[in-house]
Amino acid sequence: MKITPRIKGFICLTAHPEGCAKNVDDAIAFVKAKGAIENGCKSALIIGSSTGYGLASRISAAFGCGADTVGVFFERGPDVERERPASAGWYNTAAFTRRAREAGLYAANINGDAFSDEIKQKAIEAIKKSPLGKVDLVVYSLASPRRTDPKTGEVYKSVLKTVGKPSVNKSLDTDKAQIVEVEVPVATDKEIFDTVKVMGGEDWKLWIEALDKAGVLAEGCTSVAYSYIGPELTYPIYREGSIGQAKKDLERAAEEIDAQLKLHRGKAFISANKALVTQASSAIPVVPLYISILYKVMKEKGCHEDCTAQMQRLFATQLYNDSFADFDGEGRVRMDNYELSPEIQKQVFEIWPKVTTENLGELTDFEGYKKAFLGLFGFGVEGVDYDKDSDINASID
Ligand code: NAD
Repeated sequence: MKITPRIKGFICLTAHPEGCAKNVDDAIAFVKAKGAIENGCKSALIIGSSTGYGLASRISAAFGCGADTVGVFFERGPDVERERPASAGWYNTAAFTRRAREAGLYAANINGDAFSDEIKQKAIEAIKKSPLGKVDLVVYSLASPRRTDPKTGEVYKSVLKTVGKPSVNKSLDTDKAQIVEVEVPVATDKEIFDTVKVMGGEDWKLWIEALDKAGVLAEGCTSVAYSYIGPELTYPIYREGSIGQAKKDLERAAEEIDAQLKLHRGKAFISANKALVTQASSAIPVVPLYISILYKVMKEKGCHEDCTAQMQRLFATQLYNDSFADFDGEGRVRMDNYELSPEIQKQVFEIWPKVTTENLGELTDFEGYKKAFLGLFGFGVEGVDYDKDSDINASID
C-alpha cells in the first residue's frame, strides 16, 4: 500500500517504513563517519530508545562504540487487517535492529510501559541474555504524557502549564502556518505534583534500583538522563513551568543515582540537550516558533545539529574517548552550549518580535521545521520512492 502523512495537530498518525529505515541508515552513516569512539560503552540499556534523543543514543552506542544494546520503548505495531502502518518508533527500531545484527551486535527490544515493574523485569532478563550479562551505560530518555504508579496503580498525567502566573506569548500554529498569541494557563499544585510524578526522577531511580538489585550493573556503569533548559523567553512555559519542575526533580534524582552508582565506581548525570523537533517537543506551546527561528540562525552559522549529531558529540567528547565530562556549576553536561551561546541567542531574539504570519518563511526556518517534523515519521526523506507500495509489516523481535 501507499502511505501518505495524516497529520492531526502535533502528531502524524501514519509512518513510512522505508522512510524511517532510511533515517536510521543516515544516522548510522553519520555516526560511523565520525570514527570509532574509543573506550566506549560495551553494553547499553536505552530507556526510550525508539525515537528522538534515545534512538540517537542507541545508534551512538552501537555504531560509535560497538556496544550491544537493549532498547525499551512504547510503540504501536502494524495492523495489517485494517491497513494501518506501525508507529515511526516501531519502524526505526526494526531498521536499527536489522543493522545492529548485521554488524554482529546483540540488540534486544522491549516494547511496553517502561514505568511498570513488568517491563523493568523484561529488560533485566534481556540484559542477562546479552553477551556481557550486564550494562555499563543506562540512558534514560523517556518523554511521556502519563505514568501509572507501579506500586499504587494510580495514573498521573503531565501538563504543560506555567507556575504562579499565566504566560501570554507569541506562538506558531504549525497546521495553519500562522503566528498566534497563546495564553498558557497556571498549573494547580496537583498538576505540578502529577507532572513531577511522570517526568521527574522517581522512575529513573526505580530503574537503577531494579538493575542494581538484579546484579546487572557493570563496574563503572554510567547513567545519563536528558533535560532541557532553554532561553529565558521560554522559562515561563518550560524551565519555570510544570515540566521544568519535573526536570528539576530529574536533576535532584541524578545526585541520588550518582551516589548509588559510585558504589560501582560509576556515575550519573544530566545532559542538557538542544531544542530539536521531536514528537515530544512539537507538543509544547511557543517551542515550535522558537525552534523555527533557532534552526534558521544555527544553520546560517553552521552549528546546527540534529539528535544524532548531539548524541554522537555527547558520547565522543563527554562520555568516552578518554574525555572527562565538562560539568556546569549544577553538575550537568551542557550539549545546549551552541544553542544558548550569546551570539545565537542575540540573533534569535532580534528576530522574535519581528515575526508575523506574512514573513514567517523569510525570517524563520519554518520550512526546515516542517521537513524535520515530517521526517520524524519517515516522510519527505531523500532517496525514498514514495510512489512505490510499502509493506507495513516489520519485525522488532
Ligand atoms: P521522543 O518523543 O522522540 O521519545 C520518547 C521515547 O520515550 C520514545 O522512544 C517512546 O517510545 C518512549 N516512551 C514514551 N512513553 C513510554 C512508556 N510509557 N514506556 C516506554 N517507553 C516510552 O522524545 P525526545 O524529545 O527524544 O525526549 C527524550 C528526552 O529528551 C526527554 O526527557 C526530553 O525532555 C529530553 N529533551 C528533549 C529535547 C527536545 O527538544 N526534543 C531537548 C532537551 C531534552
